[in-house]
Amino acid sequence: MYSPDANNTTGSVAVVGAGVVGLCTALEAQRNGYQVTLIDRDAPGLGASFGNAGYLATELIDPLSTGKTLLSALSMWLNPHGPLALPLSYIHRILPWLLRFVFAAYPKVADHGRRTIHQLNQASVPAWRRCLKDIEADGQLIQSGYLLVWESADKLEDARQHARYLREWGITTRLIRGEELAEMEPELAGRVSHALYFPEAYQVRDPYQLCMQLFSAFQARGGQFVQQSVNALLPIENAVRLQTPSTALRFDQAIVCAGAWSKQLLQSTGLEVPLEAERGYHLTIKAQHIKLNRPIGSAERRFVMSPLDSGIRVVGMTELGGLKLKPIKRRFDSLRYHCRKLITSLNDPSLEISEWMGHRPTLPDSLPVIDRHPDYPQLLFAFGNQHLGLTQAAISAEMVVNLMAGEPSANDLEPSANDRKQSAIDRGPFRVDRF
Ligand SMILES: Cc1cc2nc3c(=O)[nH]c(=O)nc-3n(C[C@H](O)[C@H](O)[C@H](O)COP(=O)(O)OP(=O)(O)OC[C@H]3O[C@@H](n4cnc5c(N)ncnc54)[C@H](O)[C@@H]3O)c2cc1C
Repeated sequence: MYSPDANNTTGSVAVVGAGVVGLCTALEAQRNGYQVTLIDRDAPGLGASFGNAGYLATELIDPLSTGKTLLSALSMWLNPHGPLALPLSYIHRILPWLLRFVFAAYPKVADHGRRTIHQLNQASVPAWRRCLKDIEADGQLIQSGYLLVWESADKLEDARQHARYLREWGITTRLIRGEELAEMEPELAGRVSHALYFPEAYQVRDPYQLCMQLFSAFQARGGQFVQQSVNALLPIENAVRLQTPSTALRFDQAIVCAGAWSKQLLQSTGLEVPLEAERGYHLTIKAQHIKLNRPIGSAERRFVMSPLDSGIRVVGMTELGGLKLKPIKRRFDSLRYHCRKLITSLNDPSLEISEWMGHRPTLPDSLPVIDRHPDYPQLLFAFGNQHLGLTQAAISAEMVVNLMAGEPSANDLEPSANDRKQSAIDRGPFRVDRF
């Protein structure tokens, strides 16, 4: 439970970026006694954290780059409604990143990534519980379960194989077919052959609402918010200066949580990280009469639909197009095409649909950076959680703040470690200079 002690602050900290990772980090730093200022060029929660599916995808343990994904990449790219897009105007810019991405599929690298993502994902729901209980927002987290569906009956063995694979990692699923499936999700009736049900899966009620709850708690605890763009981070003796267009702000320490934009900020401190923006798209459909009971993913069409407080959210696409390109309209059309194939009632032209595109922060090995600057220990980083930034936000926040506070990592744990320490994870794989 949060218990501020006004006489015992551990110094001032700036958290740059008020997405879900920055918001969780700012709160966690407050819990540890720091005076925290959150800085964002926009209002909080309007980056990638605004428009995600709200699903805690703990079963997604494979890194994005594996032999399997590389083999299917060309067919995904050539399919006009496929999940992968690579705008021609950006190809020359992304080539170095793509080369690293291909190398990350090397089995030893991918296996290491898989073990690390699994460890992080396993710790993610308990970390969210701690965070939300502390701010009395437990109701935001729902054990909704998740359905991964297949339309083609001849893909039954694919589902069985996937279930066996996940079981090896301790992830429980159940094969569902026929009437049981229709009862669980009546809207899918007649469209889907079979599904894997994940009974232990969680979603949040609404990702933007969640960001607002985190932000309110942060402010209620005395946190300051500054709406300014940070142009550069300048380490000075035992402190850091943040340069904005109009002023310079001084803090004892700073944590960069600027999502897909973190690369530019790190460059101002002499660090190069191969971070790319993986653009993803969403539709939010106001349709109170169409009821989904849980998030649903399509294994064949590769998109996800979630029932959120703001409507039915349909998310998908991986578009390697950088930070500047405007959203491409036909991607929204592809999402419309796919969700209407699965849920025919979504064909209703009178439904109110909003469109959005956001930038997932992704490194070639699919692992985030959670680390200190190698030369300036007053600068820390928590970014790069790719498709799993909502899932991993609370645990990433705990890890980076533990690091700032000099708490032990999993490597140092005693067998009798208390609950708090058990949430610690070996930070080695998340080093900023691992590339
Ligand atoms: C379509 C889609 C669906 C997704 N679905 C899921 C899902 O279901 N589950 C899941 O776990 N993840 C999902 N994700 C991924 C997840 O949304 C992201 O990984 C996560 O939101 C990243 O959070 P963040 O705080 O790191 O970045 P952001 O939310 O992007 O926040 C970064 C913030 O930094 C600010 N900023 C950047 N540069 C500066 C600067 N120089 N000065 C000041 N401020 C700056 C930005 O304005 C922004 O507010 C999805 C992503 C997309 C696009």
